Amino acid sequence: MQLNYIGNESVASASGRTLPVIDPSDGQTFDELQRSNAADIDAAVQAAHHCFETGWRKVSAAERGRLLYKLSQKIAAHTDELALIEQRDCGKPVKQARADALALVRYFEFYAGACDKLHGETIPYQDGYSVLTWREPHGVTGHIIPWNYPMQIFGRSVGGALAAGNVCVVKPSEDACLSLIRVAQLAAEVGFPPGAINIVTGYGHEVGDALARHEGIDHISFTGSPSVGTIIQQVAAERHCPVTLELGGKSPQILFADADLDAAIPVLIKAIVQNAGQTCSAGSRVLIQQGIYEPLLERLGHAFEALRVGPAAMDLDVGPLIRQTQQQRVWDFLSDAHVAGIPMVGQGTVVDEAPESGFYQAPTLLRDVPVGHRLAQEEVFGPVLAAMSFCDEDEAVALANATRFGLVAGIWTENGARQLRMAKRVKSGQVFINNYGAGGGVELPFGGVKSSGYGREKGFEALYGFTTLKTVAIRHG
Ligand code: NAD
Repeated sequence: MQLNYIGNESVASASGRTLPVIDPSDGQTFDELQRSNAADIDAAVQAAHHCFETGWRKVSAAERGRLLYKLSQKIAAHTDELALIEQRDCGKPVKQARADALALVRYFEFYAGACDKLHGETIPYQDGYSVLTWREPHGVTGHIIPWNYPMQIFGRSVGGALAAGNVCVVKPSEDACLSLIRVAQLAAEVGFPPGAINIVTGYGHEVGDALARHEGIDHISFTGSPSVGTIIQQVAAERHCPVTLELGGKSPQILFADADLDAAIPVLIKAIVQNAGQTCSAGSRVLIQQGIYEPLLERLGHAFEALRVGPAAMDLDVGPLIRQTQQQRVWDFLSDAHVAGIPMVGQGTVVDEAPESGFYQAPTLLRDVPVGHRLAQEEVFGPVLAAMSFCDEDEAVALANATRFGLVAGIWTENGARQLRMAKRVKSGQVFINNYGAGGGVELPFGGVKSSGYGREKGFEALYGFTTLKTVAIRHG
């Protein structure tokens, strides 16, 4: 039985109700979570507030840095354990689960080093004044986290918030809580005071909503779907609470005829099948210049056919989707594609060892997807890649920008001037040239434009969002 973690103690929810924890690899329940409500959020906010007021706000930046560093090392020592938890809870293949745990280590390492580098400024002003700015923490920050990369998103969001001097109340997804409860326990073991990191589990519309509405939450970092992002924004607006929104994407990979296809193909595949396509920044559209459309599709089709899907423990190319409703969602997209006559180029294989009760979907490559079709417009959040062709730069830009999203774009060309022209014209929070994701570096600011959200997490930039700026003007004559 998993309990909430509030004030460095494992506690049952006030309601006494629980939720099942299901292994996506076989669809079976193997544990239970607390189904918390507003009373539990209130307890967590009080613990956090008490921590902030009675000690945390006076802890020096250097000392915070030491604590974050200790946590990074503690997590590093527990990488295997955390990866195993994530593998079962989220259906992540072993390599991906380990990569997530190592990214969490790296986030805390990075933000440990950043704590005492966050400075204000002095501003030249009228004679007789000295003016300075202070970067102050918001106080209690709320973190609503999705199920696709719990450890990574906790690392970038909670890591940044703590580094900036905040204390945190975290609401993980009801589908992926286990690793974060364990990380909070590890944080207590290395000396984080009671209330600095609190984890409250349950449904979004119950406990997530309660967090977003709570008067004691001074900033909300939300990562999730655009539809819930809208609700969070509306709820937060009622009390003018600042929000960072990290939402979805329909990110294009744009290949010009001079692209290095040998380098591009494995990257294109990884960008759509990593985490079974359940990645906000998945490269889910591939835009290909006409001259190389047919040969590239042929090569991509063969690559898709070679992909194998199976239980997380088998550590194949692709694991299961998170839950049955997600599997149904992907099926609905594929059925719509079939009805619309969109041709399939290639599909991977679900291995015989995969239990029928697991949530599997073979990676699928579709071609000639019309720009107005929902496959070219909406997040599938599964391993489905939509290909379409373009003739020149203008058409490539028009297609790339033809969705409501703007999270990530990949541009593949050897022409340096075109690389920069395209990078400037594509509406996107991140642009990668002749690569995609740059290895996910924790140092690189991340976030979207349009319906992909606003505000930035990751990198040093995130610290500005987790602080508020105070201007102090001293008149001394
Ligand atoms: P989701 O929006 O359904 O849920 C995200 C979180 O919000 C969960 O913890 C959920 O319980 C909570 N929630 C749901 N309803 C709520 C409500 N009414 N009030 C408060 N909280 C509520 O998203 P998901 O299905 O967990 O994750 C997939 C989505 O997340 C995709 O759209 C994906 O692109 C996006 N995502 C974005 C990023 C990014 O950095 N931009 C990263 C990962 C995932």
